[in-house]
Formats: sequence, C-alpha cells, structure tokens
Amino acid sequence: RAMSRLIVISNRVQPAADGAGNQGGLAVALSAALRESNGIWFGWSGGETDHFTGHINFQRHDGVATATVDLEPQDVEEYYNGFANRTLWPLFHYRIDVAEFERGFAEGYERVNARFAETVQPLIEPDDILWVHDYHLIPLGAELRARGVTNRIGFFLHIPWPPMQLLLALPNHRELVEAMFAYDVIGFHTRDWLDSFLDYVSAELPGAVIGADDIITLNGRSIRAVACPIGIDTQAFRDSANQPNALNAFQRMRISANGREMIIGVDRLDYSKGLQERFLGYERFLASHPEALGRVFLLQIAPPSREDVQSYREIRAALDGLSGRINGEYADVEWVPIRYVNKGYPRDELAGIYRAARIGLVTPLRDGMNLVAKEYVAAQDPEDPGVLILSRFAGAAEQMGEALLVNPHSAEDVADAIARALAMPRAERIRRWRALMDGVEQEDVLWWQRRFTALLAAPDPEAPADR
Ligand code: UDP
Repeated sequence: RAMSRLIVISNRVQPAADGAGNQGGLAVALSAALRESNGIWFGWSGGETDHFTGHINFQRHDGVATATVDLEPQDVEEYYNGFANRTLWPLFHYRIDVAEFERGFAEGYERVNARFAETVQPLIEPDDILWVHDYHLIPLGAELRARGVTNRIGFFLHIPWPPMQLLLALPNHRELVEAMFAYDVIGFHTRDWLDSFLDYVSAELPGAVIGADDIITLNGRSIRAVACPIGIDTQAFRDSANQPNALNAFQRMRISANGREMIIGVDRLDYSKGLQERFLGYERFLASHPEALGRVFLLQIAPPSREDVQSYREIRAALDGLSGRINGEYADVEWVPIRYVNKGYPRDELAGIYRAARIGLVTPLRDGMNLVAKEYVAAQDPEDPGVLILSRFAGAAEQMGEALLVNPHSAEDVADAIARALAMPRAERIRRWRALMDGVEQEDVLWWQRRFTALLAAPDPEAPADR
C-alpha cells in the first residue's frame, strides 16, 4: 500500500533542512516524515493581517511544503498570548496561581481553531493522515470533524496533562476534554500525563469506557491514548558535537573555566523551569561546601521568552535580583559563582558547552519532557562523561532513571546532588552515562515519530501499539 500523505498542523511551522545539526529534533523528524510522504506543514506564519481572509502562503523549504496563514492582532492576543500562554500553559504546568481565565481568551482560542480548520480543510485529500500538535490546537480535530473531515487525525501534547483537580479550575474544561475524542490517537510524553487524562475521563465523563490498551470509548467513538516520549535527533546531535562550532565552543569554555568545574543549565526563561529554586539549591551547596568556593561555577544560559506576558517579566526580574545577591555574597575578585546569561545560543555551540560541563543541572518544577537533559547526555565524552542531575518532575525522568533524580523544590536535595556529582568516581559516571546514552540513542526522535505515525496509520484501534 502506498504511504499516505501526512499533513502536520501546529501553531508555528518550522521546517528543517535534512540532517541540520542546528535545528530542533522535532522539526527535523517532522520534516523527514513530510518529505517522505510528500506532505504539507500547516500553521500560523507568525505574521499579522488586519482582516483574516484565509489566504494561504505556500512555500517549499528544503523539500518540505509549507502552508501558512496570517492572524489578526486580536487573534494573536487572545489565542496565542492569552489562552495558550496565559491560561493553558500555566494550568498544565500546575501553576494555577499564575493562570488567567478570561472568556475573551477562550473565544479567541475557539475562533482561531475554527479558522485553522476552515482554511486547511480544502487541502485535505481522502487518504491523508493528519497530525495536530500541542496545546494551541486541542479543539482543531473537533472543528475538522464538524466540517465533515473523516480522515485519521492524531493529536500530540508536548506539555504535561494536569491532574484532574487542577483542570477543573478551567471554565469549559469539559468541552476541552470532549474535543479530544474527535481524534483517533492522542499522545502524551509520559504515563503520568496519560494517567491524569484517564483520571479526568473516569471521574468527569460518566459515559466513557476505558478499555484495554488505553482505548477509550465515548458516545460510540473509540480513541487510542498512548504514552510516547519524544527524543532528540541523537545522531545529528552527536555529529554536530564534532563539528568546528562545537569544538570551538568546547575549547573556549575550557579556557575560560580555568580548571574550575562547570555546572551547566540551559532553559528558556520560564517559571516552569525552576530557575529560582535552582539558584537557591546552588547557593545552599556553596554555603555548606566552603571548600568548593572558587573551584566550581554555574553557567546558566536563559534566553528570554514570551516577553509580552507579565509573569515572564516578573520571573526575569526575580532572577536578576537573586543571581545578583548570590554573586554579591560569594564572589571574589577573580571568581563569580554564577554566570547568568540572558541570551540564546545555537544548538551546535551548546553541544560544545554541554561537553565542557562536569554537571548538567536540569531542575524544572514541571516539564512535558525536557530535551536539554537528553542533549547533555548525547554531548558527553564517553571516556570522561559528566553527571546529569534531573528533576523527578520532568517527563524525561521516566526514561532517565540513571541520572541523579532530585526534588527541585528542596534546596538541600539539589545541594546534596551537586556535591555527590562532583565527587562521583569516573567508573560510576561512565556506568550511569552508558545506560542513559543507550536510551537516548534507542528512543530518539525518529523512533518517536515512526511509533506515533504507525499507530495513527493503523486503521484498526486494536492494532499493536508497540515497536
Ligand atoms: N536551545 C537552544 N539555544 C538556547 C537554549 C535552548 O537551541 O540558547 C534549545 C535546546 O537545545 C533544546 C530546546 O531549545 O533543544 C529546549 O527544549 P526543552 O524541551 O528543553 O524545553 P522547552 O523550551 O521546549 O520548554
């Protein structure tokens, strides 16, 4: 049977060149699948227009066909900055205290999902398979069904699914969950997020039946739920770690570290990443290990993100204050404990920086997956690898049990893990790293993409889910 054409639909469209080391694994994997099936990637252009017309801008990027639309300023404000980033993102990351609930946001979200459906529908042919991505577009499947689309449609959530009791705080939570039943397959990164979804379904949707293999039936429609963790493009990442940009970055870091042990953190400046708690844990380590003063430093790379949103401006101000206070307290004329950098670096340079770090410190309070943890592992020198310290609340922790798993809320826990990692014998570092690297190699982004699309392509929901 000829391969069905794939249509990927996501908020933004980011095609990647073949084997490009500097691009995100997701973009690389989706682009590969689109190229293979001669598919289309549909989404928002990132641009604005005064009046939404549904005009599609068709382009080709390195063999990937893209189709994008502009949105009205009000759409961007209500759908993107509003419902996606000020309602769903905080709520789904367990931050109900930061979440804002406004009807205007919910209306904008519905409107844009309807506009996406209306615009993409004429592009859909009978045998196409549709794959919708992430929290911006949860109702898209239902909008497409309402317009008569009968194709197989999958949905993948790249962030956590929240516990039922938190989701109940969302007005119209039920509508949002019922919309998930328009899909054929819904994917989450971890069993935990999937279980939270099932908890909600069994408590709040009395008509729903949860069967074997996480097949859920509601009103005569069966959908398949699956935990399918995304990986990185491990091969491309390893290759790029051996290219001049990475090697140069590695050399420069080595020289500037001047014999001191480096701890690396790399995160978008987001409240879900636990940066304040991380700084406080590191401060606790310094306070309890005076012998480490002048001999280690934390390099925290934190490119600003979503600066249109107030809570992001607040976290930035808080971190400026905290890093300044810790540095003021502990620095001396030739050493500062924290190098705090508010800009982004290309991924291939990051590969060299990761490799120069004795510790990868990845301590989000909540994270759907966390790819930095996997990149840190992939970048290590097999003969002398560093140690990954990982929050148990990152989705990645489900696969990465050989890391030092910590509770990021506990400064003492983080401080102890840093001390333990710095003292860890090479044999133990190698053993842990090898186990982690096996997982990063086997369950890479191509594995993830193939596994999900195979499930989606299976016409029968009883078809086997696993490799
Ligand atoms: N990243 C980057 N440059 C930076 C900081 C981050 O290229 O300066 C990349 C990083 O290598 C990783 C991604 O951004 O691939 C972040 O993914 P992750 O899952 O860790 O977090 P997210 O930002 O998606 O919440």
